[in-house]
Amino acid sequence: MAARKTSPNTLRHRQDRRFREAQQELQHLSYFLKGTVSKRMMKCGQASCACHRDPSRRHGPYFEWTYKVQGKTVNVKLSPQAAPLYQAAVKQQRKLKVILARLERLSRTALARLAKSAEQAR
Ligand SMILES: [Zn+2]
Repeated sequence: MAARKTSPNTLRHRQDRRFREAQQELQHLSYFLKGTVSKRMMKCGQASCACHRDPSRRHGPYFEWTYKVQGKTVNVKLSPQAAPLYQAAVKQQRKLKVILARLERLSRTALARLAKSAEQAR
């Protein structure tokens, strides 16, 4: 039996489907945010305070959202209530990047295929 080649039509449908699937994932995305959310325990200004001797007695936690604008780092203090919301949004941003990269990859393949068939149709 001869090896069966995937027909160009099947290939096209598969690529279209993958692209649509990735588009749908975008629709399920929630609010997103670039940067990172960090949690910090801090020493205070009083040299006599226990936080200066014992790291486990430091104050906090303090939450901060850090992101960059034109190469400059911006820090935004977050309340303990806001922190999980921002953290979730940062996760969504990472997901967005993954989906976008997939869409771009699929687009590249599809465009090469479309260009080829347009050239053959001349
Ligand atoms: Zn202290």
